[in-house]
Amino acid sequence: MSSILRIALQKSGRLSEDSYQLFKECGIRFDYGTGKLKSVSSNFPAEFLFLRDDDIPGYVEDGVADLGIVGENVAVESTHRIETVHRLGFSKCRLSLAIPRATEWHGIQDLAGKSIATSYPRILGNYLHEQNVSAEIHEISGSVEIAPGIGLAEAICDIVSSGSTLLSNGLKEVEVIFRSEAILIARPTLEDEKQNLLEKLLFRIKAVQAAKN
Ligand code: ATP
Ligand code: ZN
Repeated sequence: MSSILRIALQKSGRLSEDSYQLFKECGIRFDYGTGKLKSVSSNFPAEFLFLRDDDIPGYVEDGVADLGIVGENVAVESTHRIETVHRLGFSKCRLSLAIPRATEWHGIQDLAGKSIATSYPRILGNYLHEQNVSAEIHEISGSVEIAPGIGLAEAICDIVSSGSTLLSNGLKEVEVIFRSEAILIARPTLEDEKQNLLEKLLFRIKAVQAAKN
C-alpha cells in the first residue's frame, strides 16, 4: 500500500480558515465544513483530520496524524514530543501579562509573591524563571480574564489580540511574554515515504509563501 500523509487541522476556530486556504493555494483539494471528521484529498496523497486544536499535538505524537497545524503557543505549552517543521505566518497573537487597570506597574518584579492565573503554566513558568521572579501560577482552562475580578489572582497571562477583552474586564496589558503564529508540526521521525511526501508539501508551501512576499 502506498503511503498517505495524515494531516490534523483545527475543525473550526482561529486557525481553520487560513489552514484550509493554505492547502487550497498549494493546489491540494479536499472537502471540509461538511461536519465530517476526516476527508481524503482528491489530488494529493493526504488525508485531513478535523480536530480541536488542543488535541493535535497528542495525536501527532501518537501517530494518529503525521502532521498538524497548531498555534505555536499550544505547541510550546504541550509536553508532547513533536517537531516544528515550518512557520506559517498566520493566526498571529501574543501571550501577555495583564493586571487591573488601577494598579501601578513598574516592571516584572511587581509580580513577585503575587498569584497569576493562566492557561499557559509552562510558558509563564519559564518566563518568570528567566526573569528571576517567583510568583504563584494558578492554572485555569478558560475565562482567565475574570480571575482578578473574582479575587482568584492578582494578574493574568493570556492570549491578547485587540485588547478589548482585557478592557471590558478592567485589565491592562503590561508585558508581552510570547509571540505566536501558526506552525506545521510533525512526529520527530517519519517513515521515508511520508518524509518524501512532507518534502513535496513543504516545497509547495514555500512557493505559496514566496509568491506572497
Ligand atoms: P478549539 O475549539 O479548537 O479548542 P480554541 O477556542 O482553543 O479552539 P481558537 O480561539 O480558535 O482556539 O484559537 C486557536 C489558536 O489561534 C490559538 O491557540 C492561537 O494560536 C491563535 N490565535 C490567533 N489569534 C487569536 C486570538 N485573537 N485569540 C486567541 N487565539 C488566537
Ligand atoms: Zn482549543
